[in-house]
Amino acid sequence: MPLIASVLLPLPLPEAFDYAADEAMDLHVGDQVAVPLGPRLMRGVVTALRDATGHNRPLKAVESKLDDTPLTEGALAFLDWAARYAVSPPGDVLSMVLRGLRHPLPRPITGLVRSGRPPTKPTPARLKVLEAADDTPQRASALAAAAGVSAAVVKSLVEDGALLAVSLPAPDDFGDPDPNLPGPTLNPSQAAAAEVLVEMVQAGGFQAALLDGITGSGKTEVYLEAAAAALKADPHAQILLLLPEIALTQAVIARVTARFGAPPAEWHSAVPGPRRRRVWEAVATGTCRIVVGARSALFLPYRKLKLVVVDEEHDGSFKQEDGFVYHARDLAVARAKIEGAAVILASATPSLESLWNAEAGRYRWLRLSARHGTATLPDIDLVDLREHPPESGRWLSPVLKAAMAETYAKGEQTLLFLNRRGYAPLVLCRACGERMTSPDSQSWLVEHRYSGRLVCHLTGFSMKKPDACPHCGAKDSLVSIGPGVERLEEEARELFPEARIAVFSSDTAPDAESARTLVQAMEAGEIDILVATQAAAKGHNFPNLTLVGIVDADLGLRGGDLRAGERTYQLLAQATGRAGRADRPGRALIQTYAPDQAVMQALAAQDRDAFLNAESEARKEAGLPPFGRLAAIILSAEDGIRLETYARALAAAVPNAEGLEVYGPADAPLALIRGRRRKRFLVRADRMVDLQAFLSTWLARAKPPSWVRLQVDVDPYSFL
Ligand code: ADP
Repeated sequence: MPLIASVLLPLPLPEAFDYAADEAMDLHVGDQVAVPLGPRLMRGVVTALRDATGHNRPLKAVESKLDDTPLTEGALAFLDWAARYAVSPPGDVLSMVLRGLRHPLPRPITGLVRSGRPPTKPTPARLKVLEAADDTPQRASALAAAAGVSAAVVKSLVEDGALLAVSLPAPDDFGDPDPNLPGPTLNPSQAAAAEVLVEMVQAGGFQAALLDGITGSGKTEVYLEAAAAALKADPHAQILLLLPEIALTQAVIARVTARFGAPPAEWHSAVPGPRRRRVWEAVATGTCRIVVGARSALFLPYRKLKLVVVDEEHDGSFKQEDGFVYHARDLAVARAKIEGAAVILASATPSLESLWNAEAGRYRWLRLSARHGTATLPDIDLVDLREHPPESGRWLSPVLKAAMAETYAKGEQTLLFLNRRGYAPLVLCRACGERMTSPDSQSWLVEHRYSGRLVCHLTGFSMKKPDACPHCGAKDSLVSIGPGVERLEEEARELFPEARIAVFSSDTAPDAESARTLVQAMEAGEIDILVATQAAAKGHNFPNLTLVGIVDADLGLRGGDLRAGERTYQLLAQATGRAGRADRPGRALIQTYAPDQAVMQALAAQDRDAFLNAESEARKEAGLPPFGRLAAIILSAEDGIRLETYARALAAAVPNAEGLEVYGPADAPLALIRGRRRKRFLVRADRMVDLQAFLSTWLARAKPPSWVRLQVDVDPYSFL
């Protein structure tokens, strides 16, 4: 019987293409196939098969079925759901799913064993090698070193047949986690939360829980109990642990390894390609049971996903804003639902969205309100900068300086938190007032002193800092305005010339390895003062850290988007939560010009609920998330006039709809990036409205011409 196979390709196309298929190929839905597209062959996935009898349009044929593991029904359903949710082509999601297959497999490692055949010429060197070799295969280089001979001698024995080459298992093979290893003894509130989660996992099927526990309360220990239960309940169960930052993965991997006696697979952009290819295959075949990864780990082809944990679920880094736009927390819940898995969202400062779901009873709500053991929460004080101003051109108030001196004298550590990379956020000319801006985005250039360059943090544009003002030509007239972490380090060095000071930002710790080195140095007490951006504010345990100074608490409140207050609260609560773990009491000082702001009061009083209730009320009144829904449409084009013309056409095509408003087009706050003009629409809808259906209908009525780039951002987090 002739068949037609619908094959989805990893391309931004609206739907799967039909190909003729031969029954002998024995195709199934989910199979990976090679199909012709224009002049080339492409990898695709079969999404449907139907009888071709009576079909008389000529179709190109599927070229071949590929060996790679087929995608499961769950993976395909998730792919569809994600595409619909994001109002994006399903091929864009498929391209993320197949990304792990782009790399070659790592080369197999061969080892040598004695074959039992004596060598034809038993020279002393050759005999030494045979003595060093035994029945466990060893690499040729190890064997040569052990026998103290050259590689050529070993090679000659292989050619001679006295040594036999065999494939060694990859050293980093996926070990089987042992859920029966003993975990720590949980304290009563941890045990109560763990019990609920274990029951949830044992019951099977989709259920969600919010693990809402203050920093240091032991959330990790608790969710690892749920992981143990999932592994015990099903010998094939797989677990996904999502983290917002690569910098956090090492610590979690170490804890998972210690708990289950086998390392989990790591998945993020810094993992080498061949290794990713192996992880992809092992996840697809089910031999890899636990994955610890960044948001893209959501798109791996799990065979039997039973538990998803989203740690630091409130974190904005879960939102992917380039290419396929999605929020990993929301997709994690969707994937769990589709796969019939449990999902645990963990945070010390949960998002309003998750709290709302917990309050409504859709998520089990588990609270841990005390730190484990004798560790106490830090004392938090506001420093009113109007009363205690720093010296001119300096950023640390006398109060904070005194606390730092005290801490240093006791041999304890300080963390100075400033969420701003580089040396100074603005460079201007003293002579003519010109501000140095980026030519491709018109945003301010940030001075980086380590590299001597001015950098646009938005587009990556950078230039050497000029000696003279490019506008008026005045020499040595450029001055740095405001502080970044590098400048703060300079100030700390002046104050404490003997102290060991380090900077932790994405510039000093650009990859997992350098982040780990810094974290380890801090843990080992090799740093007295750590000046850090948010890269170091999350998740780490520094036992000797007893003072956290928030240098500019008002920073996040400027710019004022929807979540500015919430985000500031979350970030500062995380940062202050670093102080005082184990049994040393900690303190946090928050420098602010607005101590009366609700956020600052809530932080000082450590009264999260009062703050969130007030935030919630305000959002409810305005119908904003989580009480309403938002979507942004971002248009960009090189030609501003043509862009305006299309934006107007799109505005005219807005369909009539109840419970929904469309705002715009307006110039985006970042009206120019890399030479492209940008415009935005914002859609607000009541929760009951099918926002995605509305967007699809609308966009179909005014399709963008090829010279306009159109991006849909459902539930936007950035309003730039
Ligand atoms: P959270 O994730 O809530 O910030 P962690 O799980 O990292 O908290 O726990 C904080 C610290 O307390 C860690 O060093 C952890 O090992 C320790 N800890 C938490 N619970 C226990 C327990 N029941 N027994 C022993 N140590 C614990």
